[in-house]
Amino acid sequence: MAKSIEERVLGLIRGQRLVKRGDRVMVAVSGGKDSSTTAWILAKHAEDLGIKVALLHLYQGIPRYSDNALKDVKKLADKLKVPLYVHHWEDEWGMGLPGIVGRMRKASCYICGILKRYYQNVLPLEMGYNVVATGHNLDDAVGFTINNLITGQFEYIARLSPVLPESELTPRKIKPLFWIQEKEILAFAEENNIPFSRCQCPFQQLAPTYHIRRAFDVVEERRPGTRKAFVKNVMRLVERAKVAPEESKPNKCKYCGAPTRGKVCAVCKMKIRLGIKPERPRIQKEHVYVPEGAEGI
Ligand code: AMP
Ligand code: ZN
Repeated sequence: MAKSIEERVLGLIRGQRLVKRGDRVMVAVSGGKDSSTTAWILAKHAEDLGIKVALLHLYQGIPRYSDNALKDVKKLADKLKVPLYVHHWEDEWGMGLPGIVGRMRKASCYICGILKRYYQNVLPLEMGYNVVATGHNLDDAVGFTINNLITGQFEYIARLSPVLPESELTPRKIKPLFWIQEKEILAFAEENNIPFSRCQCPFQQLAPTYHIRRAFDVVEERRPGTRKAFVKNVMRLVERAKVAPEESKPNKCKYCGAPTRGKVCAVCKMKIRLGIKPERPRIQKEHVYVPEGAEGI
């Protein structure tokens, strides 16, 4: 019989050592099915893996969408009995994502991508967690690869992996659902009554990978296994062609300590441009939600 998703995910976590005993893992949860399933599997097996699990939600301040997402993330924290840290962009920026995008005059997915990556790097370390887990799945890996092939950013493709090691400035990044397709995750989340939001980000169709994903739906339907074979073979090609990820050690942003190629990181530069004081972000105590029955932080 085919292995269940849970068995495949645990096989990857153990086989590729995504986590080690004693790790403190923050799962970045959007409220959607992928990250909620990631959190559900990690929390269910936390004891036998020897890890502590918490949730991190970035509240982007998108009208209607963000409030719904937060409600579902709270339901998930209640069900899993794990602490939830919520970072409110409005508190730090004085405006939500639409306001930041309007003032920066850049595409919303571009700004959102920079901010999400930044907070997923900085906040776990700041709050005492050494690993960040995301819900990235096989469909995401395909979209990421094709997009970087189109733009010629080969060194990003060399970072295609279910685990990126921790460094002095960044937590270890793990993607337990790396080999699982989106439609399999949806079925699994429904079967197991995992709380998740069905609301989609209103900017979703503007994402550069949106149409790549839809195109691969067609190919996958005609040739099942295409996504997995494609990602596997790109990873083999990267090995064989010796494409290296950017090697030089990043600097520490002089304002916030995040990794950067220059002296000031992209996010602190954005803050300076918008007249906001650049500093290391934190999550205030009142935004840490510890559900009844949870162990605490
Ligand atoms: P996306 O960039 O929207 O494809 O999301 C990729 C991953 O980033 C998700 O699977 C989540 O783990 C994480 N993520 C996305 N949005 C949020 C959010 N608002 N708060 C916390 N994590 C998020
Ligand atoms: Zn900075």
